[in-house]
Amino acid sequence: MPPVSVRETVLNNIQSNDVMVFSKTTCPFCNQVKELFKQEGIVYKSLELDKLDNGLQIQDMLFEMSGQKTVPNVFIRGSHVGGCDSTIQAHTDGRLRQLLSPPPAEGYDYDLVVIGGGSGGLAASKEAAKLGKRVAVCDFVKATPKGTTWGLGGTCVNVGCIPKKLMHQAALLGEALKDSKNYGWETPEKVQHNWDTLKNAVQDHIGSLNWNYRVQLRDKSVTYINGYAEFTDRHTIKTVNKRNKVQTFKAEKILLATGMRPRYPDIPGVKEFAITSDDLFSLSYCPGKTLTIGASYVSLECAGFLTGMGLDVTVMVRSILLRGFDQQMADMIGTYMEKHGTHFLRKCVPTRIEQIEEGTPPLLRVYYKKTDDPQEFSIDVNTVLMAIGRDACTSEIGLEKTGVLTNPKNGKIPVVNEQTNVPNIYAIGDIMEGGHELTPVAIEAGKLLSRRLYGDSSRQCDYINVPTTVFTPLEYGAIGYSEEDATDTFGEDNIEVYHAYFQPLEYTVAHRDEAGCYGKIICNKADGDRVVGFHILGPNAGEITQGYAVAMKCGATKEHFDTTIGIHPTCSEVFTTMDVTKASGLDVTTTGC
Ligand code: FAD
Ligand code: NDP
Repeated sequence: MPPVSVRETVLNNIQSNDVMVFSKTTCPFCNQVKELFKQEGIVYKSLELDKLDNGLQIQDMLFEMSGQKTVPNVFIRGSHVGGCDSTIQAHTDGRLRQLLSPPPAEGYDYDLVVIGGGSGGLAASKEAAKLGKRVAVCDFVKATPKGTTWGLGGTCVNVGCIPKKLMHQAALLGEALKDSKNYGWETPEKVQHNWDTLKNAVQDHIGSLNWNYRVQLRDKSVTYINGYAEFTDRHTIKTVNKRNKVQTFKAEKILLATGMRPRYPDIPGVKEFAITSDDLFSLSYCPGKTLTIGASYVSLECAGFLTGMGLDVTVMVRSILLRGFDQQMADMIGTYMEKHGTHFLRKCVPTRIEQIEEGTPPLLRVYYKKTDDPQEFSIDVNTVLMAIGRDACTSEIGLEKTGVLTNPKNGKIPVVNEQTNVPNIYAIGDIMEGGHELTPVAIEAGKLLSRRLYGDSSRQCDYINVPTTVFTPLEYGAIGYSEEDATDTFGEDNIEVYHAYFQPLEYTVAHRDEAGCYGKIICNKADGDRVVGFHILGPNAGEITQGYAVAMKCGATKEHFDTTIGIHPTCSEVFTTMDVTKASGLDVTTTGC
């Protein structure tokens, strides 16, 4: 990814100048455009890329943001006009003047309209209303190809973090049930999991959250519009509800928080027969033998809890597990899951899906091939869960009528401090380029944005050292750099990795694995051994990791970790006693107290 500073340079120039020309002193077309502006008395700012050290990078960034590499590259009030011919055409057909005319000073129905009532949108709208603004939030869920829909609250509440964590807990309880015999509980020999009981309990909880969100919006005087929103211009929104009722209103500022939806591969049978995480948590029947396709968060987490419920589960991996994460940790997750019953089909991709028998669940045949072999294989399963990534919901909201730029590669919206290239339009959460696809990040960004826009705060969202946890059967918590990225960024000679295997005390009596759990910290020697990466694979990793994120925000060094007294007997204490470096090659198996 290009450095953020280049993106900021480009966006800042577009946002702060009514007419912005990215130009080159040697380019006759650039001169033609600038001459036109001069003749028309139009004040413009130009950035001469051939005179700048980072001119080429700016040009690459402009290509990423606007799809245009050549100069001149003209923007008017944030809208991308294009090159010389497009600018002259816009002048001829009057669009140039139209774009330059100032927005109406009054006549807005709302100060802020938020599109998307998920984690980020709700946080921003409630905060803005608290600060006395007239706010509306539009939220609408388009049904999945299987017809699944849900209520207010977005991905996290309905089809993400919340149901996922509850189902993960169901699987952990299954493990605990096995352990409990060694702790003296005389449980029946055969226990089995009931999908309907779990699914209903999870959906009941979600229903109560949906209701609470509606109450909160009403209490805070935020207008809730349960309609699909689209721009008609950069200040006007049209919504259509499920009865096709259309509403139109104007807002001074508009915040985009439309999130992402699961992606489907272009293979026969996928939309008819496969489900995604959007369908799984409310599935009306037990999924049975399941194939999850993809090897990142969603796929591994779902495969983990379904295995934990006693189902026969296979994960189809195209390349590596958890791309972007520390690969040592990712491989250890795979090893643990494989040892605990999840099957893996590695270096494979699906080619088509057929239904062999109807039913609930049905019997499906998934054809696939190895990434390096054209021969087709097949596997019969009851459920296929596609988890190959998610697409930003930015292509069907009328952005072309506003001039807001998106990255053509992923549909995400480039921003500086959450402001898009069009000054009155903002973006947060999953659709924001360069952010993290995580609920607390969307919430923090939304809340802080509203405080900056309508309060007296200047605090920006801090996207550095964001902690995260993958809720696989053995949880994986991470903060900051992976070992690979730390090596690339600081240089191999400048980093020191301390590590240790550990066995949670609870595993001893239960006769669980001796050394599946592992922790490591990555320190930057050139910066006083500052901890720049934290990784733990073990029970309750999410709970453990949160506290260390505070420490890393305070700039903790190895010495701080070493001089902190541990809590015994816990897993987390391993980080206060880590004295073996990876470079030493010494044994890192922890034994006894
Ligand atoms: P969303 O929460 O997706 O909200 C967007 C809303 O906008 C949706 O309701 C959508 O229907 C609506 N919308 C879209 N377009 C329009 C339109 N034109 N008009 C009206 N409404 C519209 N994150 C974590 O931090 N921890 C986890 O454990 C975790 N687990 C996850 C598990 C799964 C299976 C998935 C899929 C995600 C998980 N995430 C997790 C990620 C987290 O859910 C997202 O990062 C978060 O929900 C993003 O919030 P958002 O506000 O950007 O968008
Ligand atoms: P990701 O985009 O992170 O991963 C997609 C996976 O699918 C990769 O393993 C990729 O393989 C694979 N893949 C892509 N295309 C194909 C294909 N055509 N055939 C086979 N495999 C393919 O997506 P996720 O949906 O897992 O997660 C999305 C985001 O949601 C995450 O970035 C995360 O921030 C958030 N999330 C957070 C959670 C948490 O906090 N615990 C839990 C769940 C989601 P390859 O590596 O080869 O490209």
